[in-house]
Amino acid sequence: MRVSRQSAIYWVLLAGAFAVAVTASWIVGGQIDNDAYDWMFRLYKPRPWQTQSILLAIDEVSLNAYGGVRGLRKPLAEALERISAASPKAVAVDVILTDASDPETDARLAAAMGATRRLVLACQLLPDGSAWEDPLPMFAKHAAALGHVHVEQSEQLDSVGRSLPLEEFTGHVRRWALSLEAYKVSRGAQILESPEDLDVGGRLIPSTRADGRLMRIRYAPPSMPIPRVSLKALLDNPRLAASFSGKVVFAGVTAQTAVRDWLFTPYSGGTPMVGVEIHANAFETIAQGLFLTDAPASAVLAFSLLLVVAIGVTYSRFTGRRANGLAAGILAVAHITPYWLFTHRIVFSFCMPVSSAWLSLIAAGGYQLLVVRRSLRKSEAETDRYRQTIHFVTHEMRTPLTAIQGSSELMGRYALPEEKRKQIVELINAESKRLGRMIEMFLSMERLSAGQVELKKETFSAGELMAGCVARALPLAERKQIRILTEAAPLDILLTGDRELMEYAFYNLLTNAIKYSPARTQVTLAAVRKHGQAYISVEDQGIGMDHKEVKQIFQKFYRTKRAEQSGEAGTGIGLSIVEQIVIQHSGTIEVMSRPGEGSRFTMVLPVPVSAVLAEKAKES
Ligand code: ADP
Repeated sequence: MRVSRQSAIYWVLLAGAFAVAVTASWIVGGQIDNDAYDWMFRLYKPRPWQTQSILLAIDEVSLNAYGGVRGLRKPLAEALERISAASPKAVAVDVILTDASDPETDARLAAAMGATRRLVLACQLLPDGSAWEDPLPMFAKHAAALGHVHVEQSEQLDSVGRSLPLEEFTGHVRRWALSLEAYKVSRGAQILESPEDLDVGGRLIPSTRADGRLMRIRYAPPSMPIPRVSLKALLDNPRLAASFSGKVVFAGVTAQTAVRDWLFTPYSGGTPMVGVEIHANAFETIAQGLFLTDAPASAVLAFSLLLVVAIGVTYSRFTGRRANGLAAGILAVAHITPYWLFTHRIVFSFCMPVSSAWLSLIAAGGYQLLVVRRSLRKSEAETDRYRQTIHFVTHEMRTPLTAIQGSSELMGRYALPEEKRKQIVELINAESKRLGRMIEMFLSMERLSAGQVELKKETFSAGELMAGCVARALPLAERKQIRILTEAAPLDILLTGDRELMEYAFYNLLTNAIKYSPARTQVTLAAVRKHGQAYISVEDQGIGMDHKEVKQIFQKFYRTKRAEQSGEAGTGIGLSIVEQIVIQHSGTIEVMSRPGEGSRFTMVLPVPVSAVLAEKAKES
């Protein structure tokens, strides 16, 4: 019973640890998971791949050379002409061309675009999100597609671009991402959609519609960046055009001072990455098929729960070094699994399993430590009590022993008159009996509390038992002129168990009542049957006890101050034996007492079913 309650507390504690871990992960886990994701990104070294894209970088040098963003259209037109001559797979221009500039320049740029095959132009949402800002029709008409250039920002409080929405809506007009359009155009394919993914010329891109078709970007590691050619360098050195051949070109402003769309990446540390490069990386993700998909929340929850259960079982089955070793293994699994899954391109929460494992470890380990401590304290207390007992017994034995020794010496040394001799012999006899009783009592107490006593199973009448005890106690009572009144003791209350032990118990209660009562009072005995139980009580009008004392009288060697002052001899052992006897008979003992007003001790004992039936049979 106690064990199962303990283990219930243990598992409730673990469930609590799990609940805290899950709640905390939901509240603050997002950022931790993102940080862990970035860290794993940097830790993992992917197999090198052949980049399929190239950047036409409008960098600081180019902007300075051509008079800033305003002066860009002419050199851009020239660059497009050179690039298209090198026959690239596609050209995506991430430059916003919503306004007209000098007509001649615009016409030149439009002509260059007309000559460029598989051209994709950028569009973006108006800041209020009400409509698309498209390039001027004179440019747009040459584009094979328009792609949006938004990078997901909403959940990225830390300005790290981890994923990109492949589709964006305004009203009913949907635009695919620039990178996706560039891929589609370069492959001459169509985009087929299902709720779970997009299919572009056989390439399945996992991106659920429910999540806004977010795609995690697999950035090219810093050791193999997407190649880039500066706009100015290309115009200065026409031979550089060859590097664009067979590639998907992303043209855009890379000068940090001139762009608004930049984000940090898991790799970037302190330096942000500009929009056009992010789009090129998104394109590489699609082109290489290196998709990172999120594990379902239910899998994360189930895995975390499994860890908690594993820790729980570990600490309930094992202790010490073995338990700690196993727990360390489980912790390691909790830490390593998200990374191992990452290397298999599955993004798994880090916070929930790790916090579940740690919190349940603290709960389970802490609980076990507490239990171990408690049992240690208990055994210490037991040793202490035992030592006290030995001390007490040796002390108590000394008194009768001294009397016996002294008396026997007297007898040996002197020729005593017959009368005196008889007296001494009686004393020796009485003291050695007392010694014997003490030893007997002490042994039976130890055996009873150790459960070593074999209980006999007899059926006997409570009334008879009580009458026998009264007869034995009568001389004691008469000495104090105490009247023993038996109020109700029907002979038909049958008990089963060890008659001798039960008699010992009842006799003890009765003699205590006489001992701890003043002269000329009354002791009342009763035995009744109620609700299938026998209530056998002894009530006196004696010195009584207060609440605190009642709580302690069943401890070995405890005596109240009042009892000690009463001058009645006692050892403080009797009631502890009575309690053991009653417990061994599946009963309980109730005490009602008030200082100066007397006490009532009641033994509540089960009446055996067979005895009840036997009586019923007798009645009918
Ligand atoms: P002893 O009587 O030998 O001291 P017990 O174990 O029988 O030891 O009783 C323990 C203590 O309980 C007694 O010392 C006394 O203080 C208290 N006690 C027991 N019975 C009574 C009673 N009927 N009235 C008042 N005090 C009692």
